[in-house]
Amino acid sequence: MTQQQILDEYKHDLLGVFGDPSLVLVEGSGNIVTDANGKQYLDLLAGIAVSSLGHAHPRWVQAVQQQAAKLAHISNFFTSPTQVRLASTLIEKLSPVQDARVFFCNSGAEANEAAYKLARRHGNLSSPQRTTILALEHGFHGRTTGALALTHKPAYREPFEPLPTGIKHIPATLEALEAHCDETVAALIVEPIQGEAGVLPLPPGYLARARELTRANGALLIVDEVQTGMGRTGLWFECTRELSAENLPDVITLAKGLGAGFPVGAMIVVGQNPAALFQPGMHGTTFGGNPLATATALATVETIDEEHLLSNAEKVGAYIRERVGSLPEVDETTGRGLLIGIRLTHEKTRSGLPLAPTVVERARHHGFIINATGPSVVRLAPALNISIVEVENFCRQFPAIVSEADNC
Ligand SMILES: *Cc1c(COP(=O)(O)O)cnc(C)c1O
Repeated sequence: MTQQQILDEYKHDLLGVFGDPSLVLVEGSGNIVTDANGKQYLDLLAGIAVSSLGHAHPRWVQAVQQQAAKLAHISNFFTSPTQVRLASTLIEKLSPVQDARVFFCNSGAEANEAAYKLARRHGNLSSPQRTTILALEHGFHGRTTGALALTHKPAYREPFEPLPTGIKHIPATLEALEAHCDETVAALIVEPIQGEAGVLPLPPGYLARARELTRANGALLIVDEVQTGMGRTGLWFECTRELSAENLPDVITLAKGLGAGFPVGAMIVVGQNPAALFQPGMHGTTFGGNPLATATALATVETIDEEHLLSNAEKVGAYIRERVGSLPEVDETTGRGLLIGIRLTHEKTRSGLPLAPTVVERARHHGFIINATGPSVVRLAPALNISIVEVENFCRQFPAIVSEADNC
């Protein structure tokens, strides 16, 4: 089948929730992916911050193959060595001193859905007044109904109302936090850097103050690290940049990069009280934490350690920011490590098309896979093992790509 035939069949057979895909990809190796016509691309998106080791990393492939050949799925009536080892590894990465527990699931939405239920349970056990969950304007937490209710964007939420109620979206400012965090609040959920909103970091000091205020008011602090976590920003958990081991969030959610391409999510609950909110039977999943998923995630974590990918993310990210941030076409760069937002100076091309999506299209033409989060923001989220040599070509061509797009 040709690329065009596959795209035509897609339109016919797939539910159109994602719009029309632009390419049919058939193969990947390292940071290069190949389409059905044999054209190659440098992958600067990694499946939206997921494929942290690049494509077909030998260690990852070996983990999948060996575990698949040994034992793939067993249900949560049973456990496996890899499940227990992955949980203890994540807890150790988060903090060697804190008591924490892990719930495994299959996606970011599911991890946040679990956190949402935990927050409701906390509110219900605490007092009849504790019925509000605070979430942030421009926040994104997933598409299942609980996670969707926490998500801000009206275009995502409104077609599916009524959704769970009792959620208040507040601006991501210290003033709004001070004004709304009181004893009616069961939980506050935030992303350390809002990924889907255009790689927008929280104001400095926000997380530290959020920790103080939620604690003082008896509310849970939930940090959604689905996009920022697992090394993407140069730390295992971005929230630890501001929160010390004694001041960790009550709940951290993970997914995207956790399995480096294998679907796996997790909710980490810190401390004994929040962990006791769920009693046996109160929550569950069939697939979550199975041997295949956890073996793959464990190999991912080990590879990130062995190949020093946290420092690589920091180094290559800083390089891209420096190269791209100084261009006249660029207003500013945002994010940390290899979660990069490039804000262009304007929103529209000469003929009035949205600029950033046009840049994405032109970049694809030149052999680069990147993404736009809005009319003026380009997002890069490449594999954590990408090198300066690999990104250099993109940095060099980026100005020409933007001006080509501008002329569209
Ligand atoms: C992607 C994302 C989600 C949703 O994850 P899915 O695996 O698509 O359900 C939730 N929160 C954040 C911050 C995300 O970036």
